[in-house]
Amino acid sequence: MSDCLFCRMVAGEIPADVVHETDRVLAFRDINPQAPTHVLVIPKEHHRNLAALAAADAELLAAVARAAGEVARQEGLVSDGGVEPGYRVVTNTGPDAGQSVDHVHLHLVGGRPLGWPPF
Ligand code: 5GP
Repeated sequence: MSDCLFCRMVAGEIPADVVHETDRVLAFRDINPQAPTHVLVIPKEHHRNLAALAAADAELLAAVARAAGEVARQEGLVSDGGVEPGYRVVTNTGPDAGQSVDHVHLHLVGGRPLGWPPF
């Protein structure tokens, strides 16, 4: 979609601080980080939100989840056991959740203790 910010980043029309990339997934640092690590993980193909992605392409959803795990490992957010120190993955859907870019993205945040509940 030519008017989608994240599609334009995938196309290389807008610069991105890329931390991980596969043939189908891109992960880049959020421009307004809310934690020491704040990375957005997206499918390169445009899907509006998580449910739309899951309905359209379960394998691509799995690839996005795998990429999030890889970014967490790269960022030092998980030990070899896969747990500590830890991180959070969030995806906002719709206006009540504050979704501002209609291209599904996982926020991967970590690097400090994170409060709960997050609202
Ligand atoms: P949402 O509000 O849709 O859950 O998340 C959108 C995220 O995209 C926000 O955290 C925002 O900071 C980030 N963002 C918006 N524009 C840009 C940009 O041009 N570059 C990057 N790297 N992140 C952006």
